Order: sequence, then structure tokens, then C-alpha cells
Amino acid sequence: MTALKSPRSRAHHEQRLRIKRLIISVLSHMILLGILLAALILDLLNDVSYQDYLLFVGSALITQGTFWLMFRLDLNLKFNDPSLTLMQMATAIIWFSFIISQLPELRGALLLLYVMVMLFGIFQLNPLEFAFAGLLSLVCFGTVIVSDLSLHPESSQLRLSIMQWIILAAAQTWIALFSSYVRRLSERLRKQKSVLKASNHKMIRANEELEQAMQQLDEIAGTDELTGILNRRRFFQEAECRLESSDNYQPSALCMIDIDHFKEINDQYGHQAGDQVLEHFTQIAGQYLRSSDLFGRYGGEEFVLLLPQNNQDSGIKVAERIRQAFAKYQFDQIEPGLNCTLSVGISLHRFGEPLDSTIKRADDALYQAKHNGRNQSVYISGAPQAQQH
Ligand code: GH3
Ligand code: MG
Ligand code: MG
Repeated sequence: MTALKSPRSRAHHEQRLRIKRLIISVLSHMILLGILLAALILDLLNDVSYQDYLLFVGSALITQGTFWLMFRLDLNLKFNDPSLTLMQMATAIIWFSFIISQLPELRGALLLLYVMVMLFGIFQLNPLEFAFAGLLSLVCFGTVIVSDLSLHPESSQLRLSIMQWIILAAAQTWIALFSSYVRRLSERLRKQKSVLKASNHKMIRANEELEQAMQQLDEIAGTDELTGILNRRRFFQEAECRLESSDNYQPSALCMIDIDHFKEINDQYGHQAGDQVLEHFTQIAGQYLRSSDLFGRYGGEEFVLLLPQNNQDSGIKVAERIRQAFAKYQFDQIEPGLNCTLSVGISLHRFGEPLDSTIKRADDALYQAKHNGRNQSVYISGAPQAQQH
């Protein structure tokens, strides 16, 4: 995605573009001055002295220098069109006309300069401004012809000059038509670009919504509907992922938790009462867990806990806290004074060991807890002997 520019940096960028366009204008003036200098050195210009040439250079320096100062001092920003395109073109037309008036020998060839000036404004000017620039060039060139005639009434160049003026008028008309065609084309392109941009935005938004929806779906797919904790499949995925990716490996404790005589609750108070017990159990257990602990429903009334960075003692401590808190809780909403208990089997995950083996040990420990009379935690280390709480 493209980064959005602040209005200030965009204004700065636009001002730099305008100065770059001024450089094009300055270069055009320099090229013309270079050509004139070459013609002067080759002695092709009868009526122009080196002093005249210095006048050309001086006048170009004044006009271009003025524009440069306006851009540098941000004075151009006070105008309706801060690029000052029409003003630059009008100045160039007048300057070129002045030079053309001094070079009757090169007049035919130098008509091209007017066309060059018009090209400068082809993307910038509206049709009215463009017509104004074209008319200005015709008026200026006409003035050159008229002043020639008044200075040299005997000249035989009149018909040729009129022909040159007509050619210039035809060329300017053609450029004006061409410019309006280019303008329409660029406007159509700009519109297409904005439509494309809008549909691109829509696509990005739709994509984000899709990603969000997929994330929600993924969460739903990994959540146990009744208790809101991880389901068995997602618990395994996450646990394996954590155990594999622990760079700085530290053991994790794994607890298998099973509610005691749960079937009796179902049988005695109904399935809904059983559901309430399961929900309350997850709420009670959740109070003793850190955000880094993984808590999942293994199935039915069996739950599984992965406690990262826990050794044997701290694992047993967490399991015992949960067991005692659950045993203390009274399910008055089912029957006043009703208590439930649970049994826990605990094991420690060993580095590189498959998760299944750790679960198997915890399951064996849980079996022993049940066998020993329930409502207790049993820890099984890697070694066969069990420890009872
Ligand atoms: P133990 O102390 O040996 O664990 O005995 P238990 O009765 O808790 O275990 P048992 O496996 O005999 O019974 C578990 C019952 O849990 C059987 C099943 O109908 C019930 N059960 C499984 N899932 C749900 C559930 O989502 N909601 C309810 N209410 N009951 C469930
Ligand atoms: Mg049970
Ligand atoms: Mg069970």
C-alpha cells in the first residue's frame, strides 16, 4: 500500500515540480541563446551585434530570474494557478517575438519557437487560456510584421510575412485542437484512475473484512461451545506449537482434570445441571491461570491444562489451588449446599518428548488419583513412582 503524504509534504512536492518545469523553460531559453550565439560567431546575422546579443541574454536572465525568485519565495502560491504557466508562456512569447523582430533572416525557422511555447502548456492550460496564448503569439508576430513594414515600407517581404503569419495561425489552431484532445484524454485517464483507486480501496476493505471473518471463524472452530475454552483439537495444535517453538526451553507442567462422579449429577439433577457444573468449573479454574497457560476441554467432563515454565512443585500448586477452590464452591443454584470435586493427574513435559507421551503420563496419574479415592492431585514424573496430594 502506498503511504499517504501529509498536505505539507504534498505542497512541498508540488512546488519542487513547478521549479523543475521552470528549468525546462530556462533550458529552452538557453538553447535559443546558444543557437543565436553560434549564428553570430558564424557571421550569419547581418543586423545583430554582440551588444544586441547581450541584450537578449540580459532580458532572458531578467524574466527567468524573476520566475525563479517567485517560486523560491513562494510568491507564486498567491496566484490562482500557482504553476504560473500562462504567465511564463506569455513572457516567453513576448521575448521570442522580440528576438524574432531582430532577426528577419531567421524568421521563418524561428516560427517554430511559438509552437514550442504552446507545447509547454499543453497539459496545464484550459482551452480558453490556451486560445489566449495562441492569439497572443499571433498578435505579437503580427506586431513584428507591422513594425517591420512601418520601418521599411519599401521591403518586398510583405507577402512572405503574411504567408508566415497564416502558417503560424494554422499551426496554432492545430495545436489548440490537439491540446483539447490531449486534455480530454488525460481527464478520462484521471477518472479511470480514481475509479480504479476507489475499487482498489473497496477490495482492500473487503479483504480486511474477509480476514476478520476468517479469524472469527478460526476462533469459533477452535472454541468449545459450552465452556468457551479451547476444544481438544485446538488445544493440541497450540500446545504442540508452543512446545516445539520454545527456544529457551523450560519445562511445562501438564494437568489432566476430571470431575468426580459427574454422571451422578447428570442422572440426579439433569443434563442442564451437569452443563452448569462444567461452565462453573472453567470459570473457577480460569481465575488461577496466567494468560500464557493453555486451557482446553479434552472431552466430556475432562479438561487439560498446559502450564508453561512450571516445574513439578509449581504445577502441583496450581492444580491444588484449582481443586480446592472447586471443592469449596457450592452449587446452590442446582441444590443448596451441593459440592462437587475433581481429580487431577500431573506430569512434566520433557524436552523433545511428544505431547502424547506427556498426556499419557498425566492420564495415568489421573487414573491413580481416581483409584486412590478421588478429590486429589497425583504427580507422575518420568520415573514410575507417583506422588500424591
Ligand atoms: P469418575 O468420577 O470416575 O470420573 O466418574 P464420572 O461419572 O465423572 O465419569 P463417567 O465417565 O462415568 O461419566 C461422565 C459423564 O459425563 C457421561 C456423560 O454423559 C457426561 N457428559 C459428557 N459430556 C457432557 C456434557 O457436555 N454435558 C453434560 N451435562 N454431561 C456430559
Ligand atoms: Mg469424571
Ligand atoms: Mg471422565
